[in-house]
Amino acid sequence: MQNRKVIIIGAGIGGFVTALELRKKYGDAIRIKMYEQRKGIEHIGGALGIWPNGSKVLLNLPCAKQIEKLDAKHRYEIWGNMKGEVLRVVDRKEFEKMNGYPSMIICRSELLKILMETWGEHNIVFNKKVTGLQHHEKKTEIFFEDGSSDIADLVIDASGIYSKIRQAIFPDCELSYTGYISLVGIFRTPDTPHKNVIYGQNQLFLIFPISGERYMIYATRRIEQGYLKQYLQTRDEQINAFRGTSNEANEVLDALQESLNDPELAQHYHCAEVNDMRVMPPSYHHKRVAFVGDAIRAIGPTLGFNANLTAEDAKVLVDCLYSEDDIDKALRQYSSYRINATKPFITLEENRRNFIVYAKPKDYLEFEDKVKNSLPYEFLQPFFAAMRTASYFQPVSLAAKIKKVSEICASGNEAYVNSEPQQDFIMSKL
Ligand SMILES: Cc1cc2nc3c(=O)[nH]c(=O)nc-3n(C[C@H](O)[C@H](O)[C@H](O)COP(=O)(O)OP(=O)(O)OC[C@H]3O[C@@H](n4cnc5c(N)ncnc54)[C@H](O)[C@@H]3O)c2cc1C
Repeated sequence: MQNRKVIIIGAGIGGFVTALELRKKYGDAIRIKMYEQRKGIEHIGGALGIWPNGSKVLLNLPCAKQIEKLDAKHRYEIWGNMKGEVLRVVDRKEFEKMNGYPSMIICRSELLKILMETWGEHNIVFNKKVTGLQHHEKKTEIFFEDGSSDIADLVIDASGIYSKIRQAIFPDCELSYTGYISLVGIFRTPDTPHKNVIYGQNQLFLIFPISGERYMIYATRRIEQGYLKQYLQTRDEQINAFRGTSNEANEVLDALQESLNDPELAQHYHCAEVNDMRVMPPSYHHKRVAFVGDAIRAIGPTLGFNANLTAEDAKVLVDCLYSEDDIDKALRQYSSYRINATKPFITLEENRRNFIVYAKPKDYLEFEDKVKNSLPYEFLQPFFAAMRTASYFQPVSLAAKIKKVSEICASGNEAYVNSEPQQDFIMSKL
């Protein structure tokens, strides 16, 4: 890659992590051009769930210390139902056993600000919307809405879920409505919310502390396509559509509604239909275009994997390019690695989507029972297993990784059974 030119489309997490990893490896030996359609970085979006696999990438960037400060270091997740019952307590420290890196919940725009400052705002060309591309022999040219174009040895598309480049290269991988809408916000409240996860039939609330004595809310609920646009046009109408039988959820929605009077908090608010991809692209590259993040893998947001997988894509892509002089060969390696590594996450998120949209009362009650009565590691095993198989950083075979997961889960369950459960202690305090 020495002396080559790389274009990155999109100043999101994928774009920034790719740029910073390239700079880490190559310094000034390659030219990087980053284009972003927005006028600047806006304070929009709520919070991102960063799992240990994502942390491992982000906390090895030069701005790791600043990123770490964004996490409120919330330890025990309390999961409950709409009746106000506690179903389970999850110790977030347990996640750290995966790879030594924490699980964090951080404000998206604050993470982006740190990444942008580390990369350098002057290194981004804002207000440039990519509309199409043309392949040349060993190069790719991209075209902008303003009629201009640019050409490079490699184009890295990190332009998110509505990527024009993906649509041009993989037109069959269309987005469609998931069947649910999501409500995203950041709020303050003097009353610490009791639950962090509230399950309901065809709906879900996530409420976690983030830095600065604030809370994030991410809520989803099943709703017919078009209903939001037609009937829920104001913020109050949208928030009210999430109200229901749960007093705790209603109190959180009250606090959110109150917080929206503060313009600083109001800019994070967002309510939208969620779209995802049913047909995944067959490859993470095409000729001299590589994709990272949501641009190639538009899965739903309910499990909070997207930013993590995106950061991993960026790290793996740059490592492949660095370890293989032949760019085309490096891209093939990258593609094959990430297709396999991300499959378990795609399946988990699909299951979650189907559960939110289609669960009947009986299915929901069975689920609630499982949440309540399965051993902690039994319940979390699919997540741990997905992370283990996706972890690029463990130089062991897939079989060994899977075995390790079973061992960790078995020993965790044993420790849980044999110890005075922290869970009961916390529940008794509620
Ligand atoms: C406004 C916004 C708010 C979000 N809020 C949340 C949230 O609250 N919680 C959560 O879990 N996830 C949220 N996400 C999604 C989350 O950021 C991503 O799932 C994840 O971080 C993957 O990042 P990415 O870099 O692949 O894509 P993105 O974060 O979507 O970044 C893509 C970037 O590319 C730019 N871009 C898009 N098209 C073009 C184009 N044609 N030309 C040039 N530039 C282009 C976009 O403006 C954007 O800056 C949000 C995404 C966006 C864009």
